[in-house]
Amino acid sequence: MLNKKTALITGSTSGIGLGIAIQLAKQNANIILNGFGSPDEIEKITKELKDLTSGKVLFHGANLMKRNEIEELISFCEKEVGSVDILINNAGIQYVSPVETFPVEKWDQIISLNLSACFHTTQLTLAGMRRKNWGRIINIASAHGLVASAEKSAYVAAKHGVVGLTKSIALETAKSSVTVNAVCPGWVLTPLVEQQIKQKAEQKGITYEQATHDLLSEKQPSLTFATPEQLGDLCVFLCSKAADQITGTALPMDGGWTAQ
Ligand code: NAD
Repeated sequence: MLNKKTALITGSTSGIGLGIAIQLAKQNANIILNGFGSPDEIEKITKELKDLTSGKVLFHGANLMKRNEIEELISFCEKEVGSVDILINNAGIQYVSPVETFPVEKWDQIISLNLSACFHTTQLTLAGMRRKNWGRIINIASAHGLVASAEKSAYVAAKHGVVGLTKSIALETAKSSVTVNAVCPGWVLTPLVEQQIKQKAEQKGITYEQATHDLLSEKQPSLTFATPEQLGDLCVFLCSKAADQITGTALPMDGGWTAQ
């Protein structure tokens, strides 16, 4: 149980982040949600989570591409529920294109959100974890943090960067009770992946179902998506006492993708 612990999950209005927020709420943590969405959607999610935890559930819509908004987010957490004990760096975006035609602004956005935001949130929350002598930083990287695919230069660079950042901060915190790990999902069926399936179907003139099958069989030997719930359960495990000595790792949940 994570009673009285405060978990900040970035990008938790959708997909994997929401799945992690749900599983941490079931452990009774205070939950700070973040991400984009309509006020109605955010109200619905907040209400759902409040039914799962006896802790607080709050939302802050910081755009994590902006340092000043990240500072506001962390100050909001500290003011409302105290310093962050569990930091889940999850918010991320994707863009698929050959490098010659990769839009420069997409490169900058992906590096800013998928990599730099993890640095900023870590820098701003670590002192609080050290003060309390307990903390968990879990960076949602990707199988693309371990191996590459063509036409995803920014994403692969950012996710390899996240794995490197994870190792570096794990060494800086090794003697404390703060652990720092990366989780490396393969395909998980979320809006981020649905968009890629639609793009594949359009480009190849095939059905959504065929494109889904092609996407899985190209990379994921299990031919089965991992789920946000499973990733949430892995985060719960990483927050447990059993995981006290797991730090600096990059843990795949990828149906065998990176075993090939
Ligand atoms: P998603 O599109 O469902 O969710 C992304 C979340 O990030 C949303 O809540 C969105 O509002 C938020 N977000 C986007 N831009 C933001 C910004 N500027 N500031 C704050 N929040 C922002 O995506 P997902 O598939 O759940 O992906 C979550 C993470 O998991 C990403 O880092 C992604 O790279 C990683 N990942 C996903 C898969 C997969 O197959 N879906 C695989 C490996 C890794």
